[in-house]
Amino acid sequence: MGRRRGKKRAGTQTLGRFSIPEVLDHFGDYDRVYGDWVVNMASDRYLTFMVRGYRCASCGLEATFFLLQKNRHQETNPQNRAHFNLYAEVGDRLVLFTKDHIHPKAKGGKSTLENYQTMCAPCNVRKMDTVKETGSEHTPPA
Ligand SMILES: [Zn+2]
Repeated sequence: MGRRRGKKRAGTQTLGRFSIPEVLDHFGDYDRVYGDWVVNMASDRYLTFMVRGYRCASCGLEATFFLLQKNRHQETNPQNRAHFNLYAEVGDRLVLFTKDHIHPKAKGGKSTLENYQTMCAPCNVRKMDTVKETGSEHTPPA
């Protein structure tokens, strides 16, 4: 019940599995080559995981590895760009981790490290729903 999603996200191709140190030791490299793939290791997402850690700020779930992945629509990209996604394994399910804006971007939150935290995708979706619900000044009290 409630297991609508397979192990693989539609449109995403997994190229390899890496430990967290294997990936984050190379933070800051703009064009790091992994076999046939090129990864920009200088993104705020990796920085957030390094500084804020690998636990979801909301539910405490801990991520344990990275998957090197590419979106299928990137297939025409001549540089073979890919990216690392941080995951936890819960039973037979993979839970993606995201860089969350503590003060939501939709409500004027800044895109700076001070405003970033590590959060698992399910919690992030729940949080976004909350932001939407409380986003209007005219929301009547429950
Ligand atoms: Zn969570």
